[in-house]
Amino acid sequence: MVQGTSYELDDPRLAERVNLFPESVIREMTRINNRNDAVNLGQGFPDFRPPEAMVEAAHEALDRPHNQYATTWGTQALRAAICEKAASFNGIDADPHENVTVTCGATEAMMATMLSLVDPGDEVVLFDPYYENYGPDAVMSGAKLQTVPLDPKRAFRFDEEELKNAVADDTKALVLNTPNNPTGKVFTREEQRVIADLAMDHDVFVITDEVYEHLLYDGRDHVSIATLDGMHDRTITISAASKTYSCTGWRIAWTIAPPEATIAIRRVHDFLTVGAPHPLQVGVTTALGFDDRYYEDLLARYANARGRLVNLLDEAGFDPVNPEGAYYIMADFTGFDAPDEAKEDSRSFAEWLTKEAGLTGVPGGSFYHEPGMGEDLIRFHFAVTEEKLDAVEKTLAPYL
Ligand code: GLN
Repeated sequence: MVQGTSYELDDPRLAERVNLFPESVIREMTRINNRNDAVNLGQGFPDFRPPEAMVEAAHEALDRPHNQYATTWGTQALRAAICEKAASFNGIDADPHENVTVTCGATEAMMATMLSLVDPGDEVVLFDPYYENYGPDAVMSGAKLQTVPLDPKRAFRFDEEELKNAVADDTKALVLNTPNNPTGKVFTREEQRVIADLAMDHDVFVITDEVYEHLLYDGRDHVSIATLDGMHDRTITISAASKTYSCTGWRIAWTIAPPEATIAIRRVHDFLTVGAPHPLQVGVTTALGFDDRYYEDLLARYANARGRLVNLLDEAGFDPVNPEGAYYIMADFTGFDAPDEAKEDSRSFAEWLTKEAGLTGVPGGSFYHEPGMGEDLIRFHFAVTEEKLDAVEKTLAPYL
């Protein structure tokens, strides 16, 4: 059972697999937030407008003959633009025909990838905590989960021995997510080399989710594991327009994979969704051509929001971990002025904070596979406007 709030569905006619994972806690917190009219720093999506040029290109595409299916694995122009950016930004050598599949969000990219690589009974290794989708994706593929802890007390570093013990000959794939959701951890080149060596020793695929690849703070550089020696042909790199171009509702993402894996992913993708929205593929093709200035401005905006929210949380009595990347902050709430019952576990605290203090985050425990872990943590996101941060400040005023 993947951890999280859930109740047993009793209808015996339903498939057993739907009782193996809960509904999304992230989206459940949004519903609780809305019922309480609180400030939502739970579900992490940019609450500002996407770049005008991208929106205009999509608008124009709606007036042109782009309202029917695109090629199942993505328009030629989008795949070519993805390859150009993968070469210039990530250093990944990819061919639009052989390596790229455009999907409906990174969510579908991960599901289609797992279904393409993993047989029932195979082992999939995840770092714990992890973005909540990976658990259900693995379970729906029939995989057995093996987790390696990222220790909140040691800046979310992993222990090499623990990783070595987790990766074995029946391991099919390891999932890497850097910059990481929910911890904000950026895996260093050295850490990725350790992962790569193990993957090579045990003939394991690495599936890497790099959707926050443009959000690394304090001068850190993004490293794509596909570029490490020996990894090009055993890595599936997933990225998306969602976070980079502030358009999570467009559902445009992609995989870059070795040729045979690409054929497999395209087969699964074809029958899952046929294809991603055609006019929006046209919009994203334009966005992929933006110059460095766009990414610098985006990063500056996030860096500013990060600084403000970390300070606010700190002053309010939380103990936030300053994230190295992505747009989430994991904060220890044990020092926050709340009744003891509210601090019994992360779920109670997240509900109490929404109802009593008017601020919503996501319970830390919901990201951990290991029961009991993350129960003194809450995750907040900072993909928000200055005005929203003003609202957070007002909400937290009694605690500052
Ligand atoms: N990736 C975002 C988060 O972690 C949004 C999740 C979702 O609702 N798909 O909050």
